[in-house]
Amino acid sequence: MFDPETILERLGGIAHGAQLQGFGIDRPTLSKAARAGRIDRIRPGLFASPHLPDTVRHAASHGGALTCSGALRAHGIWVLADEGQAHVWVGRRGRAYEHEGCRCHSHYFRGPVPLGCVNVETALVHLFQCEGDESFFASLESALHLGRLTRPALLRIRAALPAYARWLVDFADASAESGLESLLRLRLHLLGLVLATQVTISGVGRADFVVGGRLIIEVDGRQNHDGQSRRHKDLVRDAAASALGYETLRFDYAQVVHDWPAVQAAILAALARLAELS
Ligand SMILES: [Zn+2]
Ligand SMILES: [Zn+2]
Repeated sequence: MFDPETILERLGGIAHGAQLQGFGIDRPTLSKAARAGRIDRIRPGLFASPHLPDTVRHAASHGGALTCSGALRAHGIWVLADEGQAHVWVGRRGRAYEHEGCRCHSHYFRGPVPLGCVNVETALVHLFQCEGDESFFASLESALHLGRLTRPALLRIRAALPAYARWLVDFADASAESGLESLLRLRLHLLGLVLATQVTISGVGRADFVVGGRLIIEVDGRQNHDGQSRRHKDLVRDAAASALGYETLRFDYAQVVHDWPAVQAAILAALARLAELS
């Protein structure tokens, strides 16, 4: 006979008692495993593996499934939002339960609520409704880059968006290596600028973006800049690019996310300068 821990792991870390009983595990065995701390009893009839991530456990305690940015983060997708409250999908008429440390945000979207964590497709649709187009676009491109969406899933996401936002799916591609690149590309597109992405320039290397043929834009999405050697490489690249007639602008996370007007002003001024020179 299988033990409850093994079955729970195979079911994704969370299951109803009835599901577990379907695998031949009777109630006394479940109670015994819960008392021994080998499995957790989230509420009557709902059990979880002790290895279930805390965010997913909180969502289950709250009465639903983890969705939006928390779910995307759990799937390894880039998200713009800081890790704050858990967003929990409880269904159209679901019930939200107060639990220890509850700071959850309940979502009452329609549809069948899974146990645990929603899939990438559902989390993206919810994220659009919850946080809007930029957050959605950055996470969508991250999911595409990581190969986490099939073509049919992408089309379902597109159909689930309001008509005015569907172009975001058409505009998205798999090239962006960080959400910052996605944000920058989207915002510059909205300014009417055409960007070439991931451009290989002989003698320089690969640039994140080239605008107007002569402006290189690099975004640094790394959380920990790996110090002097990285900085030296950047300086060597910038010098090589300058010798070839390129101007380089570099921006980091804080600038793109928290100080966009300064980023935009720097890019537009550089483009104006380059236009004057040519
Ligand atoms: Zn809660
Ligand atoms: Zn949400």
